[in-house]
Amino acid sequence: MSRGFRDADATQALSEQAVAEAIDKIVHREDSAVQAAGDGLCVDCGRKIGSERLAAVPNAVRCIRCQGAWEQANRY
Ligand SMILES: [Zn+2]
Repeated sequence: MSRGFRDADATQALSEQAVAEAIDKIVHREDSAVQAAGDGLCVDCGRKIGSERLAAVPNAVRCIRCQGAWEQANRY
């Protein structure tokens, strides 16, 4: 996860303070995902599930990326 975070050009432009605040938000989101799955956060990676995906699948518990991986692992 940290690799993708570092690769983002926009993130590199942020000051250390801003990066720390961003990390705080991400950590908080992950806490929320653990406490309340199904609130729009992916249960696997803790990131926000896209609003388009939630509109199509209101009860989605995984982001599109994790759902794809899950379906590959649970193919039937
Ligand atoms: Zn995910």
